[in-house]
Amino acid sequence: MDPLTVALVVLGVLLLVAAAFLVPRLRREPPAEPPAPAPPEVAPEPTAQEPTAPVLERPEPTAGRLVKLRGRLARSESALGRGLLGLLSRDRLDEDAWEQVEETLIGADVGVAATAELVERLRSRTKVLGTRNPDELRAMLAEELVAALEPGLDRSLAATPAAGRPAVLLVVGVNGSGKTTTCGKIARVLVADGHSVVLGAADTFRAAAADQLATWAGRVGAEVVRGADGADPASVAFDAVRRGAETGVDTVLVDTAGRLHTKVGLMDELGKVKRVVSKSGPVAETLLVLDATTGQNGLAQARVFTEVVDVTGVVLTKLDGTAKGGIVIAVQRSLGIPVKLVGLGEGPDDLAPFDPEQFVAALLGETGGGAR
Ligand code: GDP
Repeated sequence: MDPLTVALVVLGVLLLVAAAFLVPRLRREPPAEPPAPAPPEVAPEPTAQEPTAPVLERPEPTAGRLVKLRGRLARSESALGRGLLGLLSRDRLDEDAWEQVEETLIGADVGVAATAELVERLRSRTKVLGTRNPDELRAMLAEELVAALEPGLDRSLAATPAAGRPAVLLVVGVNGSGKTTTCGKIARVLVADGHSVVLGAADTFRAAAADQLATWAGRVGAEVVRGADGADPASVAFDAVRRGAETGVDTVLVDTAGRLHTKVGLMDELGKVKRVVSKSGPVAETLLVLDATTGQNGLAQARVFTEVVDVTGVVLTKLDGTAKGGIVIAVQRSLGIPVKLVGLGEGPDDLAPFDPEQFVAALLGETGGGAR
């Protein structure tokens, strides 16, 4: 081989070797940039937690609640209202018909004395009426029922401060009557009507009562004064009244214990609460909560309370659960105390100021009138 060939071969071999080294290197692409890491989900800078004010509920205005609840009332009260209307519309109002009117009234818990009076008045008025068209009958019955409900009684709640002190309202009644629920509802009624309220959880025997009251109060921004479970109810009531005076609220509403164990025990307990609370001023109102479904038994219990404390008004609860609306008449007559509020359900605003005209309109299923 001539030296030129040798040189060419060597050059070729060198080129091949170089290519063998270089090509893979050239092929190796620069390592791909790792994908830019997704920006980490940045948690918002922890900021100091702003205290969020609790969202307060705005209770419904109290005016017109009874009208709004008329449907419920009319449904449950049909036994009294429609029963009477049906009987009085009969062609012949003989002794048998009047006996049935009487039975209807007694069956609706109107009570014996009030029934006798009502029947007497209805008898003489139907005689005078001559022809009995349904409208006239309805109007006459409405008038007589309203009269039996003593529309002239003062049903206002004494809840405005006097002499620079909050009005103190004691709420009494047997356990289960709806006392604590009613306290909560009354607080809402007062707030709805523009009052500021402190609640006293003096039912210290039922552990849940104070929590229940605190929940109600929290919803409308009212303060609750409570003691330890089993604390002396009178001292809790006293503290509540003092707190109300300090904070300058309009009304202090005190829920009391309603253990009807013995009359003496009840008398001691409630008597002490009232005495202690009265130290800082007179009690403006003592409301007795009565369960309308307990009928005449409830009346017997009510009397015990009226002997112990000076009850100024009755709150008749669970009227939605009875067809015996006549209990309102019986309660007022036998206790001589006005029914001021009625409970018509478990909802927070299912408590209405009692109004005889609206109530009777609901009983008789009227559509117009009394809509205030
Ligand atoms: P307390 O032991 O007397 O304090 O009774 P509560 O306030 O705990 O009430 C007893 C029960 O009665 C609860 O389930 C209430 O929701 C219910 N209640 C209270 N008022 C009314 C009312 O007007 N209608 C109905 N249907 N239930 C009511």
